[in-house]
Amino acid sequence: MTTSRQYRWQQKQIAEGRCARCGAKRKHYTILCDPCQISNRVRQQERSGTKPWHKGKRGRPPKVQQPVQGRAQDKHSQ
Ligand SMILES: [Zn+2]
Repeated sequence: MTTSRQYRWQQKQIAEGRCARCGAKRKHYTILCDPCQISNRVRQQERSGTKPWHKGKRGRPPKVQQPVQGRAQDKHSQ
C-alpha cells in the first residue's frame, strides 16, 4: 500500500512545525494551527451536540479559548 500525496504532505508539514491542514505555523497544538483547531472543535461540537468548556464545569480548559458565539450572542440580541 502506498501513502497518498496528501498524507505525505501532511506528515511533512507536521515535521516542519506547520499546520497539517493549511500549512501555517503551529503555536499550541500538535497537528493543527490555532484557527484550524478552533474551527475543527466547533465542527465537532455541532456534530456531537456538546457545548463549549465553561469554568467550574467538567473537563480541562482549552489551550486556546474559542470565541463566544451562538446562543450567548442570541441572548444579547433579543
Ligand atoms: Zn491551519
